[in-house]
Amino acid sequence: MMQARGRIRLYRTEGIVLRHLEYGEADRIVTMCTPDLGKVRVLAKGVRKPTSRKAGHLEPFTRVEVLLAKGHTWDIVTQAEAVQVFIRLREDLRLLAYAAHMAEMVDRFGSEGEADAPLYQLLSLSLSRLDAGDRPDLLTRFFDLHLLSLEGYQPELFRCVVCGKELTPADSFFSVERGGVLCPECGQGRDDVVPLPLGTFKLLRFLQRREYNEVKALDVRSSSLEAVGRLLDRYIAYHLESGLRSAKFLRQLQAQTDRSR
Ligand SMILES: [Zn+2]
Repeated sequence: MMQARGRIRLYRTEGIVLRHLEYGEADRIVTMCTPDLGKVRVLAKGVRKPTSRKAGHLEPFTRVEVLLAKGHTWDIVTQAEAVQVFIRLREDLRLLAYAAHMAEMVDRFGSEGEADAPLYQLLSLSLSRLDAGDRPDLLTRFFDLHLLSLEGYQPELFRCVVCGKELTPADSFFSVERGGVLCPECGQGRDDVVPLPLGTFKLLRFLQRREYNEVKALDVRSSSLEAVGRLLDRYIAYHLESGLRSAKFLRQLQAQTDRSR
């Protein structure tokens, strides 16, 4: 929605702050995910000054309504009003790591300037669920698989990526390079595959195909989700050419939690 105020063109949008970058003396470049404009990078002037009224509304993982003014390089934030603040994500380091993973996934896979309401919806719902205390590892892997599907990187889990035959539930193989599962016959003896045990295979399919309500009710061991996580991390890293920064942090955090148990 555009409106003209003098010669400045203003427009309003809702967004979720993915990250920000210090810029100049007191400014920040804020990367946001929006439903109508996809990913946008905007300039928030003076937000690092202690007196800034906008600063608190533009912290990462905040759902915010902004009024933007068209600028040359970046559009400029003229007003910012938080609509939803995920308090627990700021207070709990473990939840923060999962939120950071989600934000980075959206930042890396999302397109700039193209409407992507489903992606926005997925992020918004997932952060709300994380904040509400839903099981984070299960929620995050559901998020990963659904984001990959939305953005055109869906791993093939139903037909063998080599022979094309419909896959039956059995110990199989997975190839990151080929983008999915190989049947036991095709996967045998290849060096570009990893074994995909039946349990992991079924869990991947379930997470990819089912609604969140069904996934949420699933009673699944952490170790099974870790196996899915390792596979997805490799798959994601392959498609992004370099891995996610947050994946390493999540693994470190996981290792620490395991030691302290
Ligand atoms: Zn095959």
